Amino acid sequence: MRIERCPQGHFFDGSRYDRCPLCPLERESFLPATGWLVCLDEPFRGRDFRLHEGIHILGSGSQSDISLYWDPDAREQEALLCFDRETGLFTFGPKRGGSAAVNGEPVYDPVVLRPGDCLTAGATRLRFVPLEHKEK
Ligand SMILES: [Zn+2]
Repeated sequence: MRIERCPQGHFFDGSRYDRCPLCPLERESFLPATGWLVCLDEPFRGRDFRLHEGIHILGSGSQSDISLYWDPDAREQEALLCFDRETGLFTFGPKRGGSAAVNGEPVYDPVVLRPGDCLTAGATRLRFVPLEHKEK
């Protein structure tokens, strides 16, 4: 037994623990998820993409945040999905020259998404699942 004292003033047995067992682990830095997109069609049905704060580009390019590389109908940058932390709202619309649809209806400007919406970019359909749902 080797009594040690951590910077927070806890006593612990230094022969058993490398660090104070009473202090919480340091918070890992990570980009919190705010929602998900899940592919609806084979062969990638169930494949999910994490959403976070800010802008996501959907497209066939490997640089896209949401890379639909298998979709021959998707342009390199087809559509944009944004999450605004201030308003808590997700919006989805076409990138310049691209196309986008929500629940099968083409959209030409960004529209506010609702939980469970079906988004289309290229020929790919994705289910939108937010972490939280704020009523407007
Ligand atoms: Zn401690």
